[in-house]
Amino acid sequence: MSKKVRLRFAPSPTGGLHIGGMRTVLFNYLFAKHNKGDFIVRIEDTDQNRFVEGAEAYIFECLKWCGLEPDESVVHGGKYEPYRQSERKEMYKQYAEQLIVDGKAYYAFDTTEELEEKRKTVPNFQYSHASRSEMKNSLTLSDDETKKLLNSDASYVIRIKMPENETISINDMIRGEVSFNTSQVDDKVLLKADGMPTYHLAVVVDDYSMQITHAFRGEEWLPSSPVHILLWQYLFGLENMPQWAHLPLILKPDGKGKLSKRDGDRLGFPVFAMNWTDPKTNELTHGFRERGFLPEAFINFLALLGWNDGTEQEIFSLDELISTFSIERVHKAGAKFDYEKAKWFNHEWIKKSLASWLQPLVKEVLHKATVFVYDEDLLIKVIEMVKDRCVLFTDFVQQSSFFFAAPKEIDISSVKPKWNERKQQFFSELMRDYSLLETWKHDELEKTFTELAAATRMKPGEFLLPFRIMLVGGKFGPHVFNIAELIGKKETINRIKHTLQLL
Ligand code: GLU
Repeated sequence: MSKKVRLRFAPSPTGGLHIGGMRTVLFNYLFAKHNKGDFIVRIEDTDQNRFVEGAEAYIFECLKWCGLEPDESVVHGGKYEPYRQSERKEMYKQYAEQLIVDGKAYYAFDTTEELEEKRKTVPNFQYSHASRSEMKNSLTLSDDETKKLLNSDASYVIRIKMPENETISINDMIRGEVSFNTSQVDDKVLLKADGMPTYHLAVVVDDYSMQITHAFRGEEWLPSSPVHILLWQYLFGLENMPQWAHLPLILKPDGKGKLSKRDGDRLGFPVFAMNWTDPKTNELTHGFRERGFLPEAFINFLALLGWNDGTEQEIFSLDELISTFSIERVHKAGAKFDYEKAKWFNHEWIKKSLASWLQPLVKEVLHKATVFVYDEDLLIKVIEMVKDRCVLFTDFVQQSSFFFAAPKEIDISSVKPKWNERKQQFFSELMRDYSLLETWKHDELEKTFTELAAATRMKPGEFLLPFRIMLVGGKFGPHVFNIAELIGKKETINRIKHTLQLL
């Protein structure tokens, strides 16, 4: 029997989730589910200095919003608990010490001041095969001196001893074989002075002990992979090492460099999955959710940032993505972020969603905009009527508020310059004719309107814009007679009357 496929998303809880991170989640999830495997979330919080309150809960909320539920995590439990690295602290030390015994790692006693001094005097200083012999570590000190220091309260770290001039190759599922010369890689710290492992040691120990079969992560981790491969070799043999895939970067819209949080602020689009407020600075970074994206559209567009199924198809549900996803079809090159395209996906998803399905979400958006939905059946009809006009979810506020309450502001300036006595009279007569109607249907309303306009010998168009402004307050919304039908006779006449008083 082949081994069960197990993938992990391993975020560090250091802040909000950038769409690059969210796409990493998605690709891990899709591959796991495509192969009927497990999707695990492991919290990599070994760097206590970078820990940010609330970030972990935020990550789980993003996953929930997108419908990407983990099979195992700190929230969901699982047989490889704990899933938070800080709670696994004791487990890592033995591996670091084993590496020392095997001659693959060493104790380093250099103080922060000594290291700083080095960095000041040696340009681009790296703690590596080239410099380790000049430093204070168990390779340069005698065994006795080392023991003495270990038994004192001197602080120390454990570093990997990178071999000199060897080639390490990684077989990446997206990039094929990528080779590194070990002399280019520094002697990374594996265990820190506070007894916590660094990411490099923890990721290897945890991928091993959680039986991870595939590790997909951002391209920025590719340079660290030789360290991880060596650790796999030294500690566990290479047999159970996960298959790696380094996902391409998401690039700025102009293709020049990685998309950053600041690009979003500069160009006016969200870069995080959901709104994130930094608890220290109170700075808000905008999210796709609050900007009015449907999660279906968000993951659809994320999936197509760097992947396609080889056909022209662009709209995919999560289930379709699961069945068609393959990591081999992920491109090597970075994917340019295109906000207009993201909005296009959202528009398509809003259009294709059933009104009944959109209803609770629209209600919530209207509620936030203090529009009281007093009639659920009316809301369904309204959604059906306006959804094709809504690119962002928040557009429902403008496109549907006026069905539930008379517009607060009326764009009189669009009507006033061309207003005249004949128009005034037309609308007085329209109110009279409308009040006499026994049935209230859009086609009949249009007929009455057109006949009355014909009698004035002016074009009906001359009256249509003012009528729209009267009913909705501005130059937007669906067909004006459909609006009149839905808001009803009394309200239509009231709104005409009210605007006439302003003119
Ligand atoms: N903790 C790493 C991060 O935050 C995870 C990298 C990996 O998946 O190996 O990006």
